[in-house]
Amino acid sequence: MTVSHLWNIPGRLVLYRDESTPRLDVGEIAAYLQETLGIPTETKQDFLKEYGRGDLRRIAERIAEARVRNVDKPFEIEEAAYGEIAFELRFLEGPAKKVPGVLYDGLRLEKLLRELLPRKMRTSRVQHIVFTSRMIGTFERDGRYHAHVNLCGYPSIISTSGAVEAPAKPREYYVMKQRFMQAGDAVPFELLKERFSGQFIDYDDPRMTEVLKGYALQCMVHSIAGEPFCGNRKCRLFDAHWQSELIEAQLHGDRFCKKHTEMLTAMKRAAGS
Ligand SMILES: [Zn+2]
Repeated sequence: MTVSHLWNIPGRLVLYRDESTPRLDVGEIAAYLQETLGIPTETKQDFLKEYGRGDLRRIAERIAEARVRNVDKPFEIEEAAYGEIAFELRFLEGPAKKVPGVLYDGLRLEKLLRELLPRKMRTSRVQHIVFTSRMIGTFERDGRYHAHVNLCGYPSIISTSGAVEAPAKPREYYVMKQRFMQAGDAVPFELLKERFSGQFIDYDDPRMTEVLKGYALQCMVHSIAGEPFCGNRKCRLFDAHWQSELIEAQLHGDRFCKKHTEMLTAMKRAAGS
C-alpha cells in the first residue's frame, strides 16, 4: 500500500490521564502509540484539571448540560439543576473520584473539551486523546442512545466505564441478573463477577491498559486516515459489541488484519519522513 496523500499525520499526540482509574497506565498507552505510529506522544494530567481554569462553576454547568436525560430521544440541551452542577463541581475539584452512573452526550462533551483547549493546542498538528471515567454515548439511527468505549473526534474521548459497560456481557450474565431481580432479591454482583470471571472487563481490571491501547489506536487511525473501525474480529481496530469480541480483538497480542498491518507500517514510515 502506498502512503495516501490525504492522510493527516500530526506532529504530536497528547494523552490525558483518567486519575480515577489507577489501573490504567496512560503512559504505557502513549509509549505504545509512539512505537506503533512513530509520532511523539506525551501524557498530561486529567484534561479538565489541565485546562479547566477560571470559572469552574461554568464548566460544571456545561458538563451537567451534556447529560443524556432520555435515552430514547435525540440530545436536547436543558438547563442543569443546581444539584447536578454541584455534582459535577465535586468531580472537577477531585478528579481521582470516579463519576458514577451518568450518561453524557459524547458529541456535546467533545465540543466542550475542544473549546477548553488553548488556541495554540487546537490545531490538526496536535491530536488529543482524553481518558475519562464518564460514560459517553451517541444517539443512533435505531432511535436510541448507545454507550461507547471511544468517540473518535477532536479531541477523541476514551471512557474507562465504557470499556466495562458498553460492550455487552455474556447473555447468561443478564439472565442470572434478571432472575435475582424478578425474585425481588438484591443482585449479588460479586457472585456474578466470580461466576463470569475473565469473560468481561471490569472496573480496575488489570487488562484495562492493554484493551485501551487498541481503542486509542482506533482513534488515531480515524484522525489520520478517516477510517475508524474494522470488520475483522481478529484485528485491534474491530468495533466490538460484545465483551467476548473485545477480549478476542484486544487481548491476543498486537494483531491486525492484513490491510491494517500494511496501513500502520505505511503510517509509521510517513510519520518518520
Ligand atoms: Zn483491520
